Amino acid sequence: MAPPRFRSRKDNRQAIRFTANARFKVLDNGRLRLPKIGDLTVRWSRTLPAEPSSVTIIRDAAGRYFASFVVQTTDQPLPASDCEVGIDLGLTHFAVLSDGTKVAAPKFLRRATRKLRRLHKALSRKQKGSANRNKAVIKVAKAHARVADTRRDWQHKLSTAIIRDNQAVYVEDLCVTGLARTKLAKSVHDAGWASFTATLEYKAARYGRTFARIGRFAPTSQTCSTCGRLDGPKPLSVRSWTCPCGAAHDRDVNAAINVLAAGRAESLNACGAQVRPAPVPAQRREAGIHPGAARSARSAEGIPVR
Ligand SMILES: [Zn+2]
Repeated sequence: MAPPRFRSRKDNRQAIRFTANARFKVLDNGRLRLPKIGDLTVRWSRTLPAEPSSVTIIRDAAGRYFASFVVQTTDQPLPASDCEVGIDLGLTHFAVLSDGTKVAAPKFLRRATRKLRRLHKALSRKQKGSANRNKAVIKVAKAHARVADTRRDWQHKLSTAIIRDNQAVYVEDLCVTGLARTKLAKSVHDAGWASFTATLEYKAARYGRTFARIGRFAPTSQTCSTCGRLDGPKPLSVRSWTCPCGAAHDRDVNAAINVLAAGRAESLNACGAQVRPAPVPAQRREAGIHPGAARSARSAEGIPVR
């Protein structure tokens, strides 16, 4: 095989792949035998469900080694559930479910800010090319890896619970790149909506659930989920409102219920007519971010703006 190489300019990972031709082998004693490298001790995260066809060894920026196996598996559908859920993603709460559950945003990066700052300062004082600088680089990478690992673990737990309990999951498709160019960038990246919805999507496929994204221009926060009246844009400071029909709404829960309704309508019409309402541009007032981002405005919902 070719020597290990850096596969992306954006991160500091190196990887090498061994296929069956390269004669790698998982030994009975749990070690991994690699050609020209030898027998490695592996801390298995799970038992392999089948004979692997290849293994990729990855060394990340923090100097940790991972073995990633390619195995053939079959989907294991979970027993059917009669619940369906709509999810409204935001920054005040990470997620609000149509059943009224609110999931607080854990803010892993924010919590680690002080430590990261200290490590970055230490790094910046080291002389370029020195051994101490390399050590400091690894310390920074380790701290970042810890934040990312914690976030991933948390997202896996939440997404597994949602997929297990619901037969169909509908999520609002957020314009992450638009938002990430604003002042809120750090919060947006810390939330990790994109990886969360991607996780929901593949778990839905694996466990036989329905998953769909709702277009980001659907006016989910302007519509009364009880009578369907389009009540017009509301500034973000409005957290709850009462529709003329008499229904009192929590802004985010109402939006999540509308996401659920839009998802149901779309899945019912999957082979028929397009039922999604025509795009409605959000009001700048409602969006609460800089004027140029009006197109991504819907995705700014649920974010407090000072
Ligand atoms: Zn109403």
